[in-house]
Amino acid sequence: MAACIFCKIVKGLLFESDKILAFLDIQPLSKGHALVIPKHHGEKLVDIPDDVLAEILPVVKKLATASGAENYNVLQNNGRLAHQEVGHVHFHMIPKPNETEGLEIGWPAG
Ligand code: IMP
Repeated sequence: MAACIFCKIVKGLLFESDKILAFLDIQPLSKGHALVIPKHHGEKLVDIPDDVLAEILPVVKKLATASGAENYNVLQNNGRLAHQEVGHVHFHMIPKPNETEGLEIGWPAG
């Protein structure tokens, strides 16, 4: 059933290991916008043990490859002033398939 919230959650799951979970962002900036999180709770990057962090980027890489996009952003925000909305460490993998979809980012960022 399309409206079932639990079915949406199940469909959004992309990867799971003992330490890591990946799922689709609920408000995607483009098709395939994914979040990769440690199961270990920590608000910021510095709160996460190194062995857990070491397992995150390979998952981000898998998702980038699976998205098929040649252009994509990998993003990780820490703290309110740095635009962190959810207080559990997460890495965004945001495909940028064309000029209009995905993240519009200037530099300096923010
Ligand atoms: P932040 O600004 O880096 O903290 O990004 C938080 C992200 O979490 C945003 O892109 C939200 O759309 C996403 N988000 C918030 N709640 C949920 C949820 O329940 N499921 C999936 N993504 C979520």
